[in-house]
Amino acid sequence: MLVVKKFGGTSVADKERIFNVARRCMEEYKKGNDVVVVLSAMGKQTDVLLAQAREINPNPPKREVDMLLTTGEQISVALMAMALDSLGVPAVSLNAFQVPMRTTSNYGNARLKDISTERIRNELESRRIVLITGFQGVNKFDDYTTLGRGGSDTTAVALAAALHADICEIYTDVDGIFTADPRIVKTARKLSEITYDEMLDLASLGAGVLHNRSVEMAKKYGVKLVVRSSLNTKEGTLVKEDVTVEQMLITGVACDKNTARIAVIGLEDRPGVAFKLFNHLARHNINVDIILQSVGREGTKDISFTVAEDEVDEAVAILNRHRATSVKCEEINVDRHVAKVSIVGAGMMSNPGVAAKMFEALADVGVNIKMISTSEIRVTVLVDESSVERAMNAVHDKFALGVTG
Ligand code: ASP
Ligand code: MG
Repeated sequence: MLVVKKFGGTSVADKERIFNVARRCMEEYKKGNDVVVVLSAMGKQTDVLLAQAREINPNPPKREVDMLLTTGEQISVALMAMALDSLGVPAVSLNAFQVPMRTTSNYGNARLKDISTERIRNELESRRIVLITGFQGVNKFDDYTTLGRGGSDTTAVALAAALHADICEIYTDVDGIFTADPRIVKTARKLSEITYDEMLDLASLGAGVLHNRSVEMAKKYGVKLVVRSSLNTKEGTLVKEDVTVEQMLITGVACDKNTARIAVIGLEDRPGVAFKLFNHLARHNINVDIILQSVGREGTKDISFTVAEDEVDEAVAILNRHRATSVKCEEINVDRHVAKVSIVGAGMMSNPGVAAKMFEALADVGVNIKMISTSEIRVTVLVDESSVERAMNAVHDKFALGVTG
């Protein structure tokens, strides 16, 4: 059996944790399995490096940021190889260059394009545990790139797909996927299974457990994915195409505080205005999420939309550059104190009234809804950041998702 295991930053944060992971990998290896291990940078190392970069230059060149960040994962794999060596287990660490793992050229948010499996296969054949840096790749200029924050999950799934692994295990500091973030909703319950589609919505909605591109890739290549804790041996949550148990109306409630709303007031009410506005943002790779357009009045209209909070300044700057020409408007307002609260569930498709039930739960606790968006299996509302906790608990209770008794 070939197993890909991925351990996040908290799982390799210090010497003790590194040895904990090393022993788990050793156990797998001693069963006679081929073991490929993907690691993140230790603890908050990526944040530390980013802070260092900004101390030197508040606006560091993206290429150099990636050059810097890729060192974090290299430290992890090298130390892990040393830990395994001290336990008498043959292991080898490889970075993106050595594999090699090729990506698109955009620094900071590159996509994996091609993974060579030859070197890895040779190492496995020599009965070594292969430790691979997560989150990084090499572009066509032979420069290091990174896959976006949390990208090590995607590295692991991509490797599992390329190597036709039997399973891809994502180890983290929680026991699996929950009906809601247990830090916010005390009654949250661990799910034993969840579908790729539900997980995709939960991941991109800020459940924060898996990088959303990793789930996209797992779905595309049918990679069997398990999310489980590195700190205990509990079974975790299986992510797959269809679930066989627990098909509930709603699977989970997610929140995403990394959201800001931009309102563009007093745009001209004529064809092409929305196109131009969003095209400017798209050309700078700014992802727009919920969009709301007002009913026109006196030849003008308003368009509001949400973007990730860390991109809001750039988005506003882009729009301001075009205010004299293609984005004529009266005002551009920004609200950073908003958050998305979403319910997700494949069971929604065949059950009307789910959205209404969510709105009722919010009304019961006096939470005001600023924007709404829906898909087949999801309802998202934008609320004030200060009411997230109240909103999530109310919704979680309303759908009776919690542990009973
Ligand atoms: N170390 C990177 C980050 O902190 C990648 C990862 O952990 O997945 O975002
Ligand atoms: Mg992560």
